[in-house]
Order: sequence, then C-alpha cells, then structure tokens
Amino acid sequence: MDTLKEIIRNIPDFPEPGIQFKDITTLLKSPQHLKMAVEGLAAPFRPDAPDGPLADRIDAVAGMEARGFVFGSLVAWELDLPFIPIRKPGKLPASTHSIAYDLEYGSASLEIHQDALAPGQRVLVIDDLLATGGTAAATAELIDRCGAEVAAFAFVIELAFLTGRDMLAPHPVHAVIQY
Ligand code: AMP
Repeated sequence: MDTLKEIIRNIPDFPEPGIQFKDITTLLKSPQHLKMAVEGLAAPFRPDAPDGPLADRIDAVAGMEARGFVFGSLVAWELDLPFIPIRKPGKLPASTHSIAYDLEYGSASLEIHQDALAPGQRVLVIDDLLATGGTAAATAELIDRCGAEVAAFAFVIELAFLTGRDMLAPHPVHAVIQY
C-alpha cells in the first residue's frame, strides 16, 4: 500500500497550524489508485475474504459528508449494499437524528434520516480518515438512535498516533493505510 501513501498529498498546517492534512484529491484523480483504495476498503468484508469476513453480516454502508460519500458509495456499489448518507446539519429534508461532537480541530454536527435504517440492521461505516475517532463515534451514536448497529468501521487512512481506534472499541476497525 506504499503506492497509496505516495499518491496522498500531505499539506502541513491546514486548516490550522500543527495539522498535517492528508489530501485525498490527488488519489481521487488517479483511477488506478482510487480503485486500489476502494478494493482495499471492501476486501475484508466480502463473504469470500481469505480469513473470513471481518463482520458477520452487513446490511448497509454509511458514509459521512463529504469524503465519506465518495468512498462509502463506491464500497456500497462493490458490496451490492444500500448506501446511507450521514450529512452536515440542515441538509437532510425529512425528520433527522442529530449529534454534535469534537474534531481533531474544532467541533461539528452530523445528521441521519430517522428512517434511513431499519431496527436491527448492521452497518459498515466508511470515511476517508480516522483521526481522534470523534466523527466515527458520533456516526455510531446516530446509527444506534435508529435502532440499528455498527458492524465495523473502515477508513482509507488511519492516523494511528491519535489512537482514535480505541474510542471505537469493541467494533472492528479496518484501515487501508496507517501513519
Ligand atoms: P476525527 O473525528 O478526529 O477522527 O476526524 C476525522 C474527520 O476529520 C474525517 O472526516 C477526516 O476527513 C477529517 N480529518 C481529521 N484530521 C484530518 C487530517 N489530518 N487530514 C485530513 N482529514 C482530516
């Protein structure tokens, strides 16, 4: 996966001093690398994964606005599953559940349609990057409020030194590349 590391651009001090921003637009514009990232995200969840699938059963894939939409919808396509958008506030037109949470830099809110998931459905949550885990944990809370449950999380990039994975335990966490 070194080739993915090479194509992801690092922008120092964006959006504020001290943050090493992982810019995936350089990956998105290379079809070969985008395919590699999406296949890497989906591989452990396929029923015929070499060591068995990482989650027992997955009924839907959810992705967080905006970069989680790109990878999440492609993984949903790959696994032939529904895609559920988790959106920034005020974007979803029907009744929503809403949650506020802390980011590596600043704070934010996310929303899900109350009827997006049926009770008991098991969801694979996809985003481009795992930093502190706040965004993913907030998404898990939204899925929980729908009466559904998280089957696993998968990210293209994990900033392992921020230990976000610990916040998501005991759910399985898959990352295609780690820093
Ligand atoms: P966190 O909630 O701290 O795990 O942050 C994850 C979310 O913020 C993801 O949706 C990322 O797209 C974004 N993010 C956080 N840190 C970075 C970073 N260093 N580079 C790029 N995106 C980041």
